[in-house]
Amino acid sequence: MSASGDGKDHKPATRLVTAGRRAEWTQGIVNPPVWRASTILYDSVADMKARHKDTHHRLYYGRRGTPTQWSLADALTELEPGAEATLLYPSGVAAVSTALLSVLRPGDELLMVDSAYEPTRALCDGLLKRFGVTTRFYDPLIGAGIAGMIGEKTRAVFMESPGSLTFEVQDVPAICAAAKERGVVTLLDNTWATPLYFRAIEKGVDLSILACTKYVVGHSDAMLGSVTAAPSAWAKLRQTSYQLGQHAAPDDAWLGARGLRTMGVRLAQHQDSALKIARWLQQQPQVARVLHPALPGCPGHQLWQRDFAGASGLFSFVLNGGRDAARTALIDGLELFGIGFSWGGFESLVIPADPANLRSAVPWQAEGPLVRLQIGLEDPDDLIADLAAGLTRYEPAVS
Ligand SMILES: *Cc1c(COP(=O)(O)O)cnc(C)c1O
Repeated sequence: MSASGDGKDHKPATRLVTAGRRAEWTQGIVNPPVWRASTILYDSVADMKARHKDTHHRLYYGRRGTPTQWSLADALTELEPGAEATLLYPSGVAAVSTALLSVLRPGDELLMVDSAYEPTRALCDGLLKRFGVTTRFYDPLIGAGIAGMIGEKTRAVFMESPGSLTFEVQDVPAICAAAKERGVVTLLDNTWATPLYFRAIEKGVDLSILACTKYVVGHSDAMLGSVTAAPSAWAKLRQTSYQLGQHAAPDDAWLGARGLRTMGVRLAQHQDSALKIARWLQQQPQVARVLHPALPGCPGHQLWQRDFAGASGLFSFVLNGGRDAARTALIDGLELFGIGFSWGGFESLVIPADPANLRSAVPWQAEGPLVRLQIGLEDPDDLIADLAAGLTRYEPAVS
């Protein structure tokens, strides 16, 4: 195998295997090993001064990373055609906050999608507000209409597609085009699709963010985030990340690199199983709606068909009536679905979620309470049987 970087024409499944495996980083070892470091020793003062000039992908000081982090970052860049480079962060939230801080200044306005991940919303209402940034939330289905919201002070538009909990698909190319025309920076939380199912930079996004904790790591055993930048956004991202002292541990990056190699086959299985279960749920009288971008009728489904190469394993459904207690009866007795935050690992998960409290641009209205599922790699028929039993517990609890 040759060094990475010359395989840009290969298909995504091949890139997942070859990406980031530069010979000088792997030293012949198949998966880049863990290089742990704080101090890096120089040959001389002259050597020290020379290396200070450009530390990217060069051993300088542990905080700037070692080949372990560079390898994963480089692999993620290779998966995003048109991207300049990627940096890693200790979590997805750290990736979101650093990306935003790299573009915003006091007095700026940020346009934030109303279906954003809860901690992203909290950042807007908290730290960003404290530092003089105003946030206006917008309808996830606004599309090219975003142009009407861009004003003198608008510096950035943040997207998350599909949205957390409710899975509206956004018209990312139209939003990026409108933003670009006005010199406004675009950011996308691409965690659900990953670069495998949505090539963000190619679609016009300036900063593409992943909670690698989810599908990249893939085994629910490490926290990790990444931001991949278009050429125009790279210098500021890098400078801001360095100044904030952002650093992802080499052990976690190594787990991310290990996970990445199988992400394609895992995602394909997550996709198949989740779709089977989503379609089954649609048939159940206790279920009012299934919120899954690959199902016709889900808001933005046509955009998903147009722009995405696949669907992952996370979606929600709305129950037909009932309150929290009925939903709890359903969830508490599930055997194969763990109750817990995060997703993207090999195991199925469930959480109750209430989007109504997290909306300010468009009110959330539903027939009943919402349940979010992460479909893992178990046999989907076993998961369906588990959910079927759950729905029979839900029914008597409705009244
Ligand atoms: C989980 C998640 C994050 C944050 O990732 P952490 O690694 O848990 O900090 C960001 N965005 C989305 C859409 C997520 O689901």
